[in-house]
Amino acid sequence: AHQTRLRTLLQHFELADTDHSTAALKSNWIGGQLHVGQGDTIELTDPATGESLIRYQDAGATLLDQAVAAATQAQVQWMALTASERGRCMLRAVQQLTGHEEALAELESVIAGKPIRDCRGEVGKVREMFEYYAGWCDKQHGEVIPVPTSHLNYVRHVPYGVVGQITPWNAPMFTCAWQLAPAIAAGNGVVLKPSELTPFTSVVIAKLLESGGLPSGLINIINGLGPTTGAALTAHDDIRKLVFVGSPESGRMIAEAGARRLVPSVLELGGKSANIIFADARLDDAIAGAQAAIFAAAGQSCVAGSRLLVERPIFDEVCQRLARACETIDVGLPESEQTRMGPLQNQRQYERVTQMIQTAIAEGARILTGGQRPDSLPSEAQGFYLAPTVLADVTPEMSIAQNEVFGPVLVVMPFDTEEEALTLANGTRFGLAGAVWTQDPARAHRVAGQLRAGTLWINSYKAINVMSPFGGFGDSGFGRSSGLDGLKEYTLPQSVWVETAAHASVAMGYGSGQ
Ligand code: NAD
Repeated sequence: AHQTRLRTLLQHFELADTDHSTAALKSNWIGGQLHVGQGDTIELTDPATGESLIRYQDAGATLLDQAVAAATQAQVQWMALTASERGRCMLRAVQQLTGHEEALAELESVIAGKPIRDCRGEVGKVREMFEYYAGWCDKQHGEVIPVPTSHLNYVRHVPYGVVGQITPWNAPMFTCAWQLAPAIAAGNGVVLKPSELTPFTSVVIAKLLESGGLPSGLINIINGLGPTTGAALTAHDDIRKLVFVGSPESGRMIAEAGARRLVPSVLELGGKSANIIFADARLDDAIAGAQAAIFAAAGQSCVAGSRLLVERPIFDEVCQRLARACETIDVGLPESEQTRMGPLQNQRQYERVTQMIQTAIAEGARILTGGQRPDSLPSEAQGFYLAPTVLADVTPEMSIAQNEVFGPVLVVMPFDTEEEALTLANGTRFGLAGAVWTQDPARAHRVAGQLRAGTLWINSYKAINVMSPFGGFGDSGFGRSSGLDGLKEYTLPQSVWVETAAHASVAMGYGSGQ
């Protein structure tokens, strides 16, 4: 059933042919047109059923060259518009999503194995991101610098030209819009490669946006594997900046590829975020927050609150209540309106997560709940399902306490003092997010102020907004996305000096203008 539904959705968006159902999929959007890939065949598996879902072709080097050339040309046309015209154009473009929201959400849900309700929410985020950054188009002012009066010095913020973006499989539409919107609002052309496991929604978004009047070729989506098409994108001579969202292992390779060409990168990587509950917290809220923090998207979220640190007097109570709460989470087929947690997205991830649980047990951890396939799944749900899992008896040096699982696995650890909570929380190489639950406002701010992470919540978890900067400390990456900081990643400051004295006095050294 999923195969047929997927085919219909791809036909609706014209990526698949209606009359020749065996014809290859048009899985790339280049220069304002759909293209069939020219490389090796990539086969996708249904996360929910474990059955084969669909095949498409890796883009290959020629299509990549075409995409970069198209972006180079379109970027010039884009910058020939006035700033206000670019903003209006982005707003018109995003209107093209109207009427396609449900089909987009379904397409994401089938391929990513995500609950349909979550996917609808993500379509809303796509719209929000383009609307927000459309507003920035005509508000990117330069500055006048107060140098001595012999000169006028002003700074403009100029686009890089063509940027390369690479995104992961856990939230394909969200990450695509998250990076496309600021890139074009800042005046760049883009070539984006989604994860080979979730290739299609990014193509559809680009296609819909360009039908609303963006210059053809401003946004290009090429699909293929990381080591082939991804690596070729990072090595392409005409790509001036790389923006990567994914694992630290691949992030390192992308930054190295950029460094070889002296091209800068932004890296949005993984996390092992700590969620700290003090004994004076409102426990109902904290437990609900802890549950949502880790089990949303089956833990396949970069900001997942995967380490729960609980003050000792309430430790046993929190563990018991949390384990009970896990049993009430509806795990099921992605298309079901009841489903709150779907499968893991792919077999490799499923094997990785279950292996990490086995290693944790071998190292002395104890399963409080979960650890296997959930009971009560519909018969067709033979895919990569894992029940919400909570592990206790975990010590800070265990691999499960240090490494990102990227699955529905929470470790709980007790602490006795605020200082110990901070040491534990800051005791991994990551630094993406974290939260503090307490009713003592001074402690809330004191603890938050000492956590080494890019996003912190007090008595909350997972609130995010396109207006607010997002990014990592340490192995969680560098550079920022969202907000004005996210926009600035896509421009370079350019300082312009104008002689205003009656007679120019150009110094030989660095003296002029001092
Ligand atoms: P991944 O690193 O395996 O793949 C991400 C992307 O990189 C894919 O498109 C892949 O094809 C590409 N890629 C892989 N090797 C490459 C290479 N050598 N050259 C060029 N491209 C290459 O990550 P994933 O498994 O898809 O995603 C999960 C990871 O992403 C987790 O670590 C998660 O925390 C992280 N993530 C981070 C954020 C954030 O904002 N910080 C958001 C979502 C996901």
